[in-house]
Amino acid sequence: MIITDVTTIKLCFPMEVAMADAIHYMPERPTLLVQVRTDEGIVGLGEAAAYSGHLESMEALVTGELRRTIVGQDPFRVERLWQLMATRAHQRGRRGMLMMAISGLDIALWDIIGQATRTPLYRLLGGYRDTLPAYASAGFYAQDKDTDALAEEVRGYAERGFKCVKIKVGRQPEALLNPLVNMPAAEYATVTFEEDVERVRAAREAIGPKVKLAIDANNAWTPSLALEFMREVEDQKVYWLEEPVATDDLDGSALLAHQLGTPVAGYETETGLPGFRDLIQRHAVDIVQPDVVWTGGITECRKVAALAQAHNLPVIPHVFSSGLSLIANMHFIASIPNGSWLEWDQNPNPLRSELFEEPLDIDSEGNVRLPERPGLGVTLNQDTIDRYRTEQHAEVSR
Ligand SMILES: [Mg+2]
Repeated sequence: MIITDVTTIKLCFPMEVAMADAIHYMPERPTLLVQVRTDEGIVGLGEAAAYSGHLESMEALVTGELRRTIVGQDPFRVERLWQLMATRAHQRGRRGMLMMAISGLDIALWDIIGQATRTPLYRLLGGYRDTLPAYASAGFYAQDKDTDALAEEVRGYAERGFKCVKIKVGRQPEALLNPLVNMPAAEYATVTFEEDVERVRAAREAIGPKVKLAIDANNAWTPSLALEFMREVEDQKVYWLEEPVATDDLDGSALLAHQLGTPVAGYETETGLPGFRDLIQRHAVDIVQPDVVWTGGITECRKVAALAQAHNLPVIPHVFSSGLSLIANMHFIASIPNGSWLEWDQNPNPLRSELFEEPLDIDSEGNVRLPERPGLGVTLNQDTIDRYRTEQHAEVSR
């Protein structure tokens, strides 16, 4: 089998009400899907993370920089193709966007291998489990969304059966060195330190003592502020604290991991095996959070997971994009022995909930089952693609 072409589909869902985490303002949900085509008619699907909306820059990397490296090659040699893509583009940067672009192609190659061998991807990769517990990822900031509204929102997730809920913290403009002040719409839906503490308490009260509560600061804090905040919510049984400090502040994160009883989770904003090696070796994280659409694909994430396993650390991937990112991370998590929760974004996004012909949902216990169809096991829903694509010439047949 030979790879004949690489194409992309640019999608964007404009949100009715913009949402925000500690530092990012999100009025829309952009998605770049990647299709790898073969001479045998099999089309592999992937996604390259394209956060903040600049789909064209990521598309240029995929179809311009990397396409020429893999066209004409055998898709089964995914390890070899990964190295060719990374090595030949290394002068353009070894992490960041290059890893996001490689991620999209790598996932599509694995999808091809699964389809060609008629094997669900998670089983092809070892099939450690066939069901995953999902956690509700939500609790964002939004205009006119007060603490009562947040409590109401998270209570709904507990009632639906989720056993773990994550909310955002850190959108505090007065926090020293908070990158928020340099971000778009920095004044949108901000809170004080005290209001953020109140949000955590209200969320805990709303979901009750049995449902786990994680919090995510999206790189907003200094180590000292993170310590102060965690002292204030010490009695709220926080399950994990995610990305408390800047991704490059390895010493600061290690200090927190050492001093806090609450596990420190991160860092979705790191990419590539070398970045995760540093986080793990320097004890900067207790929970490792790669993402197959961002970190370097399934190939790279499996290496990150193995490294985490060697240090006795669980892997709870970052999953916050389209349905493609959801299904690809599901297969990855199900394949590894140290996988754990599946992040399940609860914000409205038809590019997650209506992207495929096949529905994906949790059962009444908050668990989701892996599909038993070959490869990723999904088919794009043409109506959803037509409704949200940003250009009119994308082909989605597979
Ligand atoms: Mg996060």
